[in-house]
Amino acid sequence: MVFLTGLFMQVTLTAAPFTATAIAQATQTEEMERRANVLRSLPEWAAKRQFGSQKTYAPMEARAIGSYARGCLAGAAALPEDGNHWQVMRLSRNRMWGHPDLIRYLESFARQAAREAGWSGILVGDISQPRGGPMLTGHASHQIGLDADVWLTPMPARKLSTAERENMSAVNMARPDWMDVDPAVWTPNHTKIIRLAARDERVHRIFVNPAIKKALCREAGNDRAWLRSVRPIWGHNYHFHIRMGCPAGMAGCEQQDEPPEGDGCGQELTDWLARQQKAIFGPKPPPGPPRPPPPPLSVDALPPLCREVLRAR
Ligand SMILES: [Zn+2]
Repeated sequence: MVFLTGLFMQVTLTAAPFTATAIAQATQTEEMERRANVLRSLPEWAAKRQFGSQKTYAPMEARAIGSYARGCLAGAAALPEDGNHWQVMRLSRNRMWGHPDLIRYLESFARQAAREAGWSGILVGDISQPRGGPMLTGHASHQIGLDADVWLTPMPARKLSTAERENMSAVNMARPDWMDVDPAVWTPNHTKIIRLAARDERVHRIFVNPAIKKALCREAGNDRAWLRSVRPIWGHNYHFHIRMGCPAGMAGCEQQDEPPEGDGCGQELTDWLARQQKAIFGPKPPPGPPRPPPPPLSVDALPPLCREVLRAR
């Protein structure tokens, strides 16, 4: 664990995509510090500030507005902290909100995971903020209440305490060279639970680390159609990310393109594994002069309806 933390701090400097993973695992204290730091330099009009300070949902008809990485959420529902087969992690972040269709889906997925994948249940990480929108820390997407992170650690048979939910870490599934999963922690049930999610017609895409996709490609056998929706991405070695499609007929919800044809186990995956290994272990470019960060996204850059979502009382 110590090794990994050090690794991520190093990598953060050169390969920004890995910061998302580090942030997903942050403890309550680390997360509070990060938020305070971001807020210090953020103007009033920044969408992150406006949406990041919302404490409860917008009482309007439920709508996912805009796109996964630029939008907001009206009429959100919260996933209850505990169900028979799920527990919500990192409660203090207040990111257990989603479009009601996603919340219903997660509740049924948790039951299914217990029945069909041999998990006692699931640990749920970030979904969305109460009104969606950009966040002060972590995640480019998760803005319209249709994305959810599920830990790759099964739910324990007991109820976790609040402190455990804030500070417990999930298990890194990647092998030390990041070219495959670590056989000491990866199990056949990991393949089963991801396959269950991928087969559900409500699910549009699933994001996992390239090392995990490699394992899934190997373990899928002859049944390969479900692999198409499982896409490699940076991070996602502690949790997998479930993305629902836009609810049927929902105007203003921007559906992502279908994933490319095929199982995605060929050249694309090989390239991803090489790119990731280079980012982690390759030579680091010499530090250049400090570059000012790009200006934050303003509320005006989101769909106009997001203003109403912010105002709704
Ligand atoms: Zn995610």
